[in-house]
Amino acid sequence: MNYNTIDFAYHYKGQRTFLPRSWVLLSSFLIALFIGYFSLSYFDKQDTNVVPLNSDTIISGIQRVTLATLSSQHPVLESFKRLQSTADNKAAGQPVTVQPGDNLSLIFARLHLNSNDLQAIMSLGSKTKPLLNLYPGQELYFYIDKERRLNKLVYQINQLDTLAVSREPTGYQATITRKPTQTRTVFASGIIRNSLFGSALKAGLDSRVILELAEIFAWDIDFALDIQPNDAFNILYEEEWVGDKKLRSGNILAAEFINNGKKFQAVRYVAKDGSADYYTPDGMSMRKAFLRTPVNFRRISSHFNLSRKHPILHRLRAHKGVDYAAARGTPIHAAGNGKITYLGKQRGYGNVIEIQHGEAYTTLYAHMDRFAQRLRKGNRVKQGDIIGYVGSTGLATGPHLHYEFRIAGVHKNPLTVSLPRALPIAAADKSQFIAHADQLIKQLDNYRRTTLVQKELPPTKRKGA
Ligand SMILES: [Zn+2]
Repeated sequence: MNYNTIDFAYHYKGQRTFLPRSWVLLSSFLIALFIGYFSLSYFDKQDTNVVPLNSDTIISGIQRVTLATLSSQHPVLESFKRLQSTADNKAAGQPVTVQPGDNLSLIFARLHLNSNDLQAIMSLGSKTKPLLNLYPGQELYFYIDKERRLNKLVYQINQLDTLAVSREPTGYQATITRKPTQTRTVFASGIIRNSLFGSALKAGLDSRVILELAEIFAWDIDFALDIQPNDAFNILYEEEWVGDKKLRSGNILAAEFINNGKKFQAVRYVAKDGSADYYTPDGMSMRKAFLRTPVNFRRISSHFNLSRKHPILHRLRAHKGVDYAAARGTPIHAAGNGKITYLGKQRGYGNVIEIQHGEAYTTLYAHMDRFAQRLRKGNRVKQGDIIGYVGSTGLATGPHLHYEFRIAGVHKNPLTVSLPRALPIAAADKSQFIAHADQLIKQLDNYRRTTLVQKELPPTKRKGA
């Protein structure tokens, strides 16, 4: 049963595996998501009512819905009031609100300031460049003396950075000061009612964290098909704060997803070389060594079938792969890390690439319109790399990718073959990882046990119904 109303696209280090179904739904969801994301994060940034969190604050489902409350106080103005009070100027600055269609030279003209000063300021280089991108509603503070000379200009570029331009005996000087940020670890948990997205928003997560959560478990859970009511998640993630304002959500440190009674856990680990990835608490990769589908397709035009009649040759010929119909030119991705062992033309297959993955596995991609530029036989490719583009070279009735998956030379159905996991944690990192994972999983457990989670019970059947 499919209770979930949403689909996800998984973005993993630049590679994209799209779920086959409901393209329209998917794109509209993503558009809505991004619009939602930006508007929510806008409100979030503007919200001075957000309760400051301590590093050990526990947030359960319902407590964190403060996303859409817009404060009546103007936070920028507030911060400028603070800034002013600490400013060493005797004269108070004059606030100027940027109007639609405004720019600095219009503002200078309105304030009857000397345009030579404007030129002097703009010639200070990269530091004053943000003054070229003023947005309506932003505030600038002008400190002007009796002779209408500009002594100082203050502009809060964003939540972190403030630009101050001051007149010095030698001319204007620009300085940008950055507020210190803090990283806080936050716990959130939720129980899924209708959709992961809805429940996660309710738990106070922003879209970025929700997408990351889905991405981490994407290889084990089909978020479009497998999500059931009463599925649950618990996560520890980071948030960046400036003073008492949340700046953004950061990385998920540890996550747990209970899908249909089965528990999946993942822990983030930054290896010694600086690369970060997610692993099970015992150090197995959360990812699979192969993408299930190497192309973003429209439909499957032909399934794996060892006794099929060939559409062009009209005789019995096994179909040892899957045909993914897609628009000509759609990128084709390497299903896994490996080495190109063949790149060229084969009679019926047209332009073909074959990749060897370790000892046992090979994948084959046929009917390509063209290969990726500069790709040669013997090259190493990474999972998700674009190796070529969909076409109809060789014997093909229309543009599609013919994809084969072989284990020890034996053709397997790419749609159903059980895919091996990607490489586990490196041996050199293992002991450190296990200790790190233990600690995070314990933390997750503690928070989960001590947090009052409001159980969403399934609807009770009425007597006689
Ligand atoms: Zn085929």
